[in-house]
Amino acid sequence: MKLRSIRVLKPELPTRTPTTPPRREPWTAHGPVACPLTRYPRYAAWRPSWLPRFGGYAVVVEAADGTTGFALGGGGTPAAAVIHEHLGPRLVDEPCLATERLYDLMLRLCMPFGAGGLASFATSAVDLALWDLKGKLLGRPVYELLGGPARDHLTCYATGNDTDWHLELGFGASKMACPYGPADGLDGLRRNEELVASRRELVGPGVELMLDCWMAFDEEYTVRLAETLRPYRLKWLEECLIPEDLDAHAAVRARLPWQTLATGEHWYTPYPFQHAVAHRLVDILQPDIAWCGGLTAVSRICALAEAAGTNVILHGGGNSPYGQHASLALPGLTWTEYFVGTPPGVPLQELGGWPGVPLPQDGVLRPSDAPGFGVELDPTGWAPYFG
Ligand SMILES: [Mg+2]
Repeated sequence: MKLRSIRVLKPELPTRTPTTPPRREPWTAHGPVACPLTRYPRYAAWRPSWLPRFGGYAVVVEAADGTTGFALGGGGTPAAAVIHEHLGPRLVDEPCLATERLYDLMLRLCMPFGAGGLASFATSAVDLALWDLKGKLLGRPVYELLGGPARDHLTCYATGNDTDWHLELGFGASKMACPYGPADGLDGLRRNEELVASRRELVGPGVELMLDCWMAFDEEYTVRLAETLRPYRLKWLEECLIPEDLDAHAAVRARLPWQTLATGEHWYTPYPFQHAVAHRLVDILQPDIAWCGGLTAVSRICALAEAAGTNVILHGGGNSPYGQHASLALPGLTWTEYFVGTPPGVPLQELGGWPGVPLPQDGVLRPSDAPGFGVELDPTGWAPYFG
């Protein structure tokens, strides 16, 4: 069956009003979080002061029989334009179940302007919509189309600096955001250590702790911080370096042979992951299924990682139906990240999630068995994104 149309729409998502009063503001209401701009005082104190506000869109793919699949995509107007003006028109009349062919086609269609970054956001959204369509045409959940389930449920770790709230919610592992970077000098190094030491004291020896450094460091600072934090037994140190600086990744690997290293949420297409696996740059790959090229790219990354004995944990995998289905289906995805940015005291069910997409309970979840990704939203009636 052929694809009849690919449309970009403005999604209408339900708003949620919690009934439980928050105990305090969430960690996301406070700065700083170390980031690539930490060296610029104008932007260092508050990450939202410079983060892009691209917003979202929906991609709806329609088969010749009128069946539709859809996905919510990121990268805002620039990514939506890549779909609307370039990818969409060239996929019409292609075989709609041929996800490998269509992903390869999109990757090659993006070559003249670069297949990474925002183009990869666009490719991901179309790929995920195609997988949703495939599930709906075949009447099966996407995790079954991938050969899953590989496990009974997903074991989630929590991300954020409200560590006490993570414990209360029943998560068995917690990842902190590192507040300070090289520009903050010795005092920043000391305060980073204070954060990690206080959290280790809070959780004790039976809970895993990780530290996310969000592209903020260089080789020298990464080594220095890792050595400072060694007594606190972090399970991994994450995304310390500028993603494109692959030589720095190799240098850090060589200087920290004892430290488990993770990265990859800002790598796009399978190619940097292949390089990382081939050169043993990190222990854990963290592709984002909505950014790296979709489910097709993630399944390729998992295959090459598994053959090399490298772990994969999807970035934010528990926060989307896409990550949930992939994480249930693919044996190499042993853990699932769940980002917690909502206020402590307010149950996750009162604020988070999309209709039809489960939330973690006591640190575990199992995705929907409904056809496709099981998202209970109806794009019929949503307005076109462009004009
Ligand atoms: Mg991260």
